[in-house]
Amino acid sequence: MADQDSENYDYDLFTIGAGSGGVRASRVAAAHGAKVAVAEEHRVGGTCVIRGCVPKKMLVYGAHFAEDLKDARNFGWSTDDIEFDWITLRDNVLNDVDRLNGLYEETLENHNVEIFHERAELVGPHEIRLASGKTVTARYILIATGARPHVPEFEGSEHAITSNEAFHLDEIPKKIIIAGGGYIANEFAGIFNEFGSKVCLVNRGDQLLRSYDEALRDRLLQISIIKGIEFKFNTVFKYIKPCDDGGFHVKLSDNDEEIVDLVMFATGRVPNVEGLGLGNAGVELGEKGEIKVDEFSKTNVDHIYAVGDVTDRVQLTPVAIREGQAFADSVFGDVEPYAVDHSCIPSAVFSHPPIAAVGLTEGQARNSLGNIKVYQSDFRPMKNVLAGRNERSLFKMVCDAANDRIVGIHMIAPEAAEMMQAAAVAVKAGLTKADFDATTAIHPTMAEELVLLR
Ligand code: NDP
Repeated sequence: MADQDSENYDYDLFTIGAGSGGVRASRVAAAHGAKVAVAEEHRVGGTCVIRGCVPKKMLVYGAHFAEDLKDARNFGWSTDDIEFDWITLRDNVLNDVDRLNGLYEETLENHNVEIFHERAELVGPHEIRLASGKTVTARYILIATGARPHVPEFEGSEHAITSNEAFHLDEIPKKIIIAGGGYIANEFAGIFNEFGSKVCLVNRGDQLLRSYDEALRDRLLQISIIKGIEFKFNTVFKYIKPCDDGGFHVKLSDNDEEIVDLVMFATGRVPNVEGLGLGNAGVELGEKGEIKVDEFSKTNVDHIYAVGDVTDRVQLTPVAIREGQAFADSVFGDVEPYAVDHSCIPSAVFSHPPIAAVGLTEGQARNSLGNIKVYQSDFRPMKNVLAGRNERSLFKMVCDAANDRIVGIHMIAPEAAEMMQAAAVAVKAGLTKADFDATTAIHPTMAEELVLLR
């Protein structure tokens, strides 16, 4: 097959997986004139749209009303007799997911991308067999199958849910244990806590959100404890046993035993590579089971590429989208092949309050640059003051002392992610502290702290 002419293939591109990366790559390749098909065994849209970022953010909004309604009292609003109905929120969120799923399918169809709603596996270097038994050929193949939650194995671990199931619950648990200390654990701890659950977060190590700046992590921990979230560090699970009258009996390594309504695991995500027939095409995997790719997202097989979480480079939707775009432009477009720049990627944790960051943490900058300057603003947002909410925000700017260049910005504050997107442009562009100082503040805002740091 390898030396077959392009005209002899059924498709120029066959994409396996219609998530963020796969959809972007497929539609851009088609816009460049390629004949494209995509196979998706679940729903078009992938983790981000169907069971990740998008419905999660809607739950974060929904949850935050709990605080807003409390805070509203000091602004003169009477908020007595207000009730929260989980089923209303759940169903509205799921309906919106359906709407987005439809839009993603429409985008593909409008670009004449053929969609196979079934599983696909490689049976040769250019051959793909669909679950229906149909076999097709493609000149290029893109693997964009994403990742799935990883749950460590121990007695009763099958009773735990993951973020996949969290969007479909019939009721909000009165008591929940969440395992993990990363993005998903902290985001869902916040969500369930705002909805009134008693939340205990159990982490195997002694640090939350390891990749973020220490001062912000500490601030989130303090605020979360004040909000009522319990934390157990250096703790793992011994077992989970279902109780006769519902709920679960959980035993932890500190010998604590709890009866809870729900256990949720948020302990990282592993690449979806099983059953794809990658061996049949000779595609190499890395140590963690990820598909190994070069800077152009090409695997060790010349015509097979992979983008997004399945490559375990940076597990973020906008990164997968960029990788898909770069692949499609480079292979099918009229441009010089180009690689995605994986440096200086801004990110956010949608905790309560959220954290957002770009660039190096103070610790990373000290280790890599030596001589640095750190500017900090630790303040109580105006809205929190009037609301009587004793919750302080923290902004940090880390600069290279040699040239004043900003190498990192870190924030924990209401709307931190919204502010960070603009600040990240400046950091990516290599601006200096003096450039920020030269910019007039917008008063009164939280964001003005960025140009007033001393
Ligand atoms: P994270 O990598 O953020 O965190 C995983 C957590 O689980 C860490 O605390 C880790 O501990 C712990 N852990 C890992 N393995 C085990 C184990 N075997 N037993 C016990 N604990 C374990 O993963 P998440 O699942 O929270 O999220 C997956 C990815 O999805 C994120 O890395 C992120 O890229 C993406 N995501 C992004 C979001 C956003 O942009 N806002 C939101 C949600 C997800 P330790 O620190 O010791 O390794």
